[in-house]
Amino acid sequence: MRFRAGKRRSLWLLAWAVAAFAPWGLCQVTAAPDLPVIHVDNGPNSQAAQSAHYVVLVSLDGFRWDYARRLNAIHLLALGKQGVWAPEGMLPSFPSLTFPNHFSIVTGLYPEHHGLVANSFYDPATKARYAINDPAAVTDGAWYSGTPLWSLAESQGMRTACFFWPGSEAKIAGFRPTYYLHFDNKVDDNARIRQVLAWLNLPPAERPHFITLYYSEPDHEGHEYGPEATETKAAVAKVDKLVGKLKEGLEATGLPIDLVVVSDHGMAKVQGGWITLDQFADLTGFETSGSLLYPKADEDAARVYDQLKKVSSQFVVYRRKDSPVELHYRDNPRVGDPVVIATGPFIIRAHGPPEGKVESAPPVGMHGYDPRAMPEMKASFFAAGPDILPGRTVRPFENVNLYPWLAHLLGLNAPKSDGSLNILAGTLRDGGGDAGN
Ligand SMILES: [Zn+2]
Repeated sequence: MRFRAGKRRSLWLLAWAVAAFAPWGLCQVTAAPDLPVIHVDNGPNSQAAQSAHYVVLVSLDGFRWDYARRLNAIHLLALGKQGVWAPEGMLPSFPSLTFPNHFSIVTGLYPEHHGLVANSFYDPATKARYAINDPAAVTDGAWYSGTPLWSLAESQGMRTACFFWPGSEAKIAGFRPTYYLHFDNKVDDNARIRQVLAWLNLPPAERPHFITLYYSEPDHEGHEYGPEATETKAAVAKVDKLVGKLKEGLEATGLPIDLVVVSDHGMAKVQGGWITLDQFADLTGFETSGSLLYPKADEDAARVYDQLKKVSSQFVVYRRKDSPVELHYRDNPRVGDPVVIATGPFIIRAHGPPEGKVESAPPVGMHGYDPRAMPEMKASFFAAGPDILPGRTVRPFENVNLYPWLAHLLGLNAPKSDGSLNILAGTLRDGGGDAGN
């Protein structure tokens, strides 16, 4: 989960790039003929769905909560002024990593409940591994719990589209998005916007009402150069400009669209070199993934807990059942036992590289840490549209609360989740209506 940045990112890109087309009778649509959009026939929009409003949900990976104001991201700040934003940031779920948080945003569940407890992890029950560089895992719905917004909408007669989003390539809760693509980060930034606009130009029966759009910047620059670097600043300016362009295109459609721009997590400058847990404890017999530890038996977990608990001020260690309640990181065996939590921007791993392999330098920037202990982990939130009150700000809130709010914007009945509509109800023109989600 805290791999070297370049490796980690390229693995994810590779994972999504090489994922093969699925065999279940899918065909290509021609809205933007240069893009391999997959079309799943979920039927036309219901009459009720056709009169619902639209939500375009954009993710800017690693866009730290303070980038917009500090680096004067004019389009994002204008969006927030026109509607709502979180000037002190939004709280990612723990761990503040890409896949767990993208999936928390669209399910309203903490990682311990939706099952993606890290970017890569082991499942002691099935003895299988999930990894973002494994197309078979990424596209296998069995790994994912909860009902992502696209599946929720599809189940209620509303069509959806995902221009990339973790989880969108798998069949989850019985559905796939009507339109989606396998991840390929080489796809041109502007082509992504053209496709979103092309979807909104489809006839009403085929037009998706919930659309996701993903950009991998400025996360990459944050890892490689650090959150304060000029390269990161340039990436912020670039994605801000894309948001401006998208907004202009959305306005030109004349449709009632709520535009919501979020990020998954922030970024911190790394301190020091690798911290390798097997230098402090005997991990013989353990399965490991990054800093996650999976014992064969409870006595092994107890032994390693004892060996690790007092050896460093750079991490704390808990038996899984005793890990801090506010982290919501104890209800799933996929998090391992014991659980090791960094106390600062440190890079922790179970093992060093295999013998004969050269040690790599740690990244300049990293995330994954507890956002309550490290404010640099906080994410961004901006939104405006016909259902959102103008000129509002919100205090930092947990990202699981986006789910009932987004469902409400779309007029969907949301199932119970870890989020509550009450948290963001004050931003809605209808005050949240009678929905008690
Ligand atoms: Zn990252």
